[in-house]
Amino acid sequence: MYPKNAEYCVFDLDGVLADIVKGAQKYVDYMYGRHVPDTWIGHDLDAEELEEMLTNEEFFAFLPPIKNAPKALKTIEKLDYKIIIVTGRKIPIGPSVSWLIDRGIPFHDVVPMNKKDRVDLAKQINPLLFVEDNYETAKNVKEYCYKTLVLAHPWNDFKNPDITIIRDLMDLFPYIGVEVCQKG
Ligand SMILES: [Mg+2]
Repeated sequence: MYPKNAEYCVFDLDGVLADIVKGAQKYVDYMYGRHVPDTWIGHDLDAEELEEMLTNEEFFAFLPPIKNAPKALKTIEKLDYKIIIVTGRKIPIGPSVSWLIDRGIPFHDVVPMNKKDRVDLAKQINPLLFVEDNYETAKNVKEYCYKTLVLAHPWNDFKNPDITIIRDLMDLFPYIGVEVCQKG
């Protein structure tokens, strides 16, 4: 359980903080000498290859961070909000925690959570902010959050006036009523 009076910002890990597409491109090139498109859609990994990649701790260890992820979360920490990071990864949580620490991404908690768990979490803590790369999840948690944002990716190209897309994590601040100087 989380304290009731805290203000929380929830971030999904893959696709919001960790660049799983760039990581997959390197991994698939190295393992199979094949190319994964930037869109991810239309990648030619079969189910077995995909499963092998997504259960491989080494794969996740080398994912590059999404642009401005450390900067944005450090800013949120400075504002005294509590950061909860959620992940659907099917590997132990330890390597994901180390990955965040090594990249200077601050957090209060990192929790394994499927899509349904995320809705339950939002219901429980009513976060100030929930950032997803999955449109369906964003839609499902939205009513329990002050603001729900979706980080732009080719796979969540949707039109819904109720869900806001941001192109850069530093663009989230106006949505929680904070002005951040982008210079320096
Ligand atoms: Mg994700």
